[in-house]
Amino acid sequence: MHGQRAFSKFCSFHTALHSFCEKTSKIPSKSREDFISLCSIGSLKEAFKRFQSEIWSDPSLFSHLLQACIPKQSLSLAKQLHSLIITSGSSSDRFISNHLLNVYAKCGQLTMAAALFDVMPRKNVMSSNILIGGFIQNGDLELAQKVFHEMPERNVATWNAMVTGLIQFGLNEDGLDLFYQMQRLGLQPDEFTLGSVLRGSAGLKRTESGQQIHTYIIKSGFHSNLCVGSSLAHMYMKCGCVKEGEQVFAGMPVHNVVACNTVIAGRAQNGDAEGALDQFNLMKLTGFRPDQITFVSIISSCSELATLGQGQQVHAQAIKAGADSEVSVRSSLVNMYSKCGCLDDSKRAFLEYEDLDIVLWSSMISAYGFHGHGQEAIGLFERMENEGIELNDVTFLGLLYACCHSGLKEQAAEFFKLMTEKYELQPRLEHYTCMVDLLGRSGCLDEAEALIRSMPVKPDAVIWKTLLSACKIHRNAEMASRIAEHVLRLDPGDSAPYVLLSNIHASEKKWGDVTEVRRAMRERKVKKEPGISWFEVKNQVHQFCMGDQSHPKWREIDAYLKELMAEIKEHGYVPDTASVLHDMEVEEKEHSLAHHSEKLAIAFALLSIPSKAPIRIMKNLRVCNDCHVAIKFISKITVREIIVRDASRFHHFKDGECSCSDYW
Ligand code: ZN
Ligand code: ZN
Repeated sequence: MHGQRAFSKFCSFHTALHSFCEKTSKIPSKSREDFISLCSIGSLKEAFKRFQSEIWSDPSLFSHLLQACIPKQSLSLAKQLHSLIITSGSSSDRFISNHLLNVYAKCGQLTMAAALFDVMPRKNVMSSNILIGGFIQNGDLELAQKVFHEMPERNVATWNAMVTGLIQFGLNEDGLDLFYQMQRLGLQPDEFTLGSVLRGSAGLKRTESGQQIHTYIIKSGFHSNLCVGSSLAHMYMKCGCVKEGEQVFAGMPVHNVVACNTVIAGRAQNGDAEGALDQFNLMKLTGFRPDQITFVSIISSCSELATLGQGQQVHAQAIKAGADSEVSVRSSLVNMYSKCGCLDDSKRAFLEYEDLDIVLWSSMISAYGFHGHGQEAIGLFERMENEGIELNDVTFLGLLYACCHSGLKEQAAEFFKLMTEKYELQPRLEHYTCMVDLLGRSGCLDEAEALIRSMPVKPDAVIWKTLLSACKIHRNAEMASRIAEHVLRLDPGDSAPYVLLSNIHASEKKWGDVTEVRRAMRERKVKKEPGISWFEVKNQVHQFCMGDQSHPKWREIDAYLKELMAEIKEHGYVPDTASVLHDMEVEEKEHSLAHHSEKLAIAFALLSIPSKAPIRIMKNLRVCNDCHVAIKFISKITVREIIVRDASRFHHFKDGECSCSDYW
């Protein structure tokens, strides 16, 4: 090994040292105890002084001092001890040598460790295990594997270290293979190995292997182990099996913050934001203190639901817990306030501490983008460049997205070039989707299609759908039919292409084609995702869906909405019946338009908050053309600011205008 020369040089230097006299006198037990306690509290200087003056003659005490070098990463002392070990003739002592090897490995001195390993006269399995652990910790998987394969015998710890190492390096498949091999040999994995292989299964999103491990865990009695239980619940959640994950959690004899976080994050990531909030409240009731990880999941849940009131409460709790200064928590706050329509609060969370963290800055760029403040996003990006913050693909995605929502086509093209040429970052599908969106919206449909066909990544349904929406905007029915085929081939159950297609035909009054599309939808049993809008008042969320009369104040809302629609008609509103899917009578169309979920939610909001406070509505799909026009009128005649977050962006309606400038 290449460290050999360094090592022999080191030895020859030390053999020149004066030899120590052989002290065989018994060391008083009081001195021994004092020395050991100095080592354990990490008083290295004191301990070493003692060692030199009276203790060193007892070789068994080397280990204490060596062990104490690790937490302080005190390599200089370790080297001094190394020479003492040689001069005192203890280098053939396996116990001491393994301790020394461990210090080098844990301090990242792998060349030194490997050299020592090579000359150790009586190495054993443990020596190899220490070296494997050191290589893995140091990021050198190849050398770890080499040692593993060259070992004449291995024990459970060897296998555990190697399985854990492989999975730590993201080689989930190899890690699991080795784990099965281990099982076949009848070796017992420990809790860390089980934790690793469960993480591996979660990484591969492979429930079957997770279930196999689950069976093994029950058989071997590890199911009551807190770490193993949490990892098991996490594995199920990651694989999308929320119910199974919760069952594991419920069956655990005790819980801790990590276990609670697993369920909260699991629910949040599987789209059950309300369930995540419930679990969060339950966690506090049972006396667990939420940590940084809890806050990140729960704040993201609030942004998913866009429940500002809840979000503000959680923010206050994060401040109380002292977690609000953590970068990850602040990034999620920036995102949450942005998604709830409070860009100023996003800015406040961003500016609160002097910080040059890339995640935080990227979140703020995205927040600007979400609100259509393209210039601010670009300004922030330029500051990032000037301050020398390292940029990554996430930063550029936020930036392109911001350009996209503000219609800044030329700038976006420049940034795309900057990203690939100057920063040599590989664009992902999302980056291309942004570019296709921009090109398509501005009417360059052919150029957008050419980009999809020439990009090095495989197109997905989303990118084709983006182009399809552009076809709708620019009323290119011929191209739309062709593009819709691509979407349907990749995602046959998606209703969006059908709806878009039939909208295009409907706007050209081609009812025969509309019927055709509707028949295809019925035949393939595709259902349109219902539009849902919601509104939060006094910490309660009210949800509206077209035609749903279940709200307790339904009659009142319906009556008020009629009034409102009549009033805006007097001011010049003309219902856009072309955006109705069905070829029914005009009055019927108007009626169904008037009962779109966002209009219902706005009517209810106007009834429930009589003050001049702005109204915040959330919608799961994009706002339709007709509602967009109607809300402009409503904002004018009621003198209200109405903020609508739809599936793609924010619309701030004020005085009959929208912040999106009809660009969405
Ligand atoms: Zn609508
Ligand atoms: Zn708008």
